[in-house]
Amino acid sequence: MLVDRNRHEAVVIGGGPAGSSCAVWLAHLGFAPILIEAGSRIGGLCRLHSFRDDWNASLPGVTGPQVADNLEVSLAHAKVPLLLSHTVTGVEPTGDGFAVAVSGVRDVVLRAPYVVLATGVTARGLPGTNIAAPKAEDSSVRQGSASGTHGAVLIGPGEHIVAKDFRDKRVAVLGGGDNAFENALYAMRHGASSVDLYARTVRAQRQFVRQVPVAHVHAGKYRVDAAAQAVNGNHYDVIMVFYGWEPIVDYAAGLKLRRTARGYVATDAVTAQTSCAGVYAIGEVAQRQHPCVVTALADGVVAAKAIQASIEQNGS
Ligand SMILES: Cc1cc2nc3c(=O)[nH]c(=O)nc-3n(C[C@H](O)[C@H](O)[C@H](O)COP(=O)(O)OP(=O)(O)OC[C@H]3O[C@@H](n4cnc5c(N)ncnc54)[C@H](O)[C@@H]3O)c2cc1C
Repeated sequence: MLVDRNRHEAVVIGGGPAGSSCAVWLAHLGFAPILIEAGSRIGGLCRLHSFRDDWNASLPGVTGPQVADNLEVSLAHAKVPLLLSHTVTGVEPTGDGFAVAVSGVRDVVLRAPYVVLATGVTARGLPGTNIAAPKAEDSSVRQGSASGTHGAVLIGPGEHIVAKDFRDKRVAVLGGGDNAFENALYAMRHGASSVDLYARTVRAQRQFVRQVPVAHVHAGKYRVDAAAQAVNGNHYDVIMVFYGWEPIVDYAAGLKLRRTARGYVATDAVTAQTSCAGVYAIGEVAQRQHPCVVTALADGVVAAKAIQASIEQNGS
């Protein structure tokens, strides 16, 4: 009998906490998943920030990259096959499941009756421009080089901020949430000659807000001219944009998935199944709970158990 090497029991897309957890649980439950990750390492957003992960009550003092390393170890222990540095470009229904188009070192189409979307979010760009956040597969950004940072305009948090030299720079920060204030403080502490923060409304935690001098926080409407690197007519060497997040789900457009009012992938509350039977969405791409590592891990378990129940019910 001919064995179809590209057929799996489940294809998990995205190797952050949600996708890693789901793949590990599927393997432990006795199924044969494959995990596809666009970046060269497992870990998702955890890999990109070096802060201590004090949100996780069971891992005091552990940093984001250490959490990412632990996910890698768990996947290795569970013997989950990984396709790293490969990006999913399309998911289409077939007669007996789904075809998942993957692009990378080698282009391939995988087939499976179950697909799990765990691709997380990307920072929203600056309206009216095509400047976007760095992508996971842009390894130069992950390794801290300055390329891929879109010159003077930086979108969202991450290693491209750490790679930037703020010394003697005039910096404008756009946004009123925690990320905006935390990164404004980062630029202040890394030698910026001045940091002005522009926010329609200030929503950040007080612990961050009170550290930025009031005279440099401009609340209310403001005008951005990205080409001139100006805000309200003032020129800046660097403009950092923190306009929140949006789900990475364009590759699944062919499935016509239902979305929530906030644009995330809508799912069944109990099973994490999307509006397309056999397709599950977990972690930040669905934002079913407060976004963090613990809820992403839990979501992975929920989807794995729901897939197990479905397989056992359908006898396939
Ligand atoms: C600055 C910062 C600090 C944070 N600090 C903490 C903290 O201390 N504690 C905590 O609990 N949470 C923290 N978080 C939040 C936490 O990192 C996220 O909630 C968590 O990583 C979400 O997991 P996820 O698996 O849903 O998505 P992600 O971690 O974003 O993983 C998604 C993965 O999918 C991959 N992917 C995307 N598109 C494709 C594609 N087409 N094909 C293949 N792969 C793809 C991406 O490369 C990525 O690896 C922080 C977040 C940020 C931004």
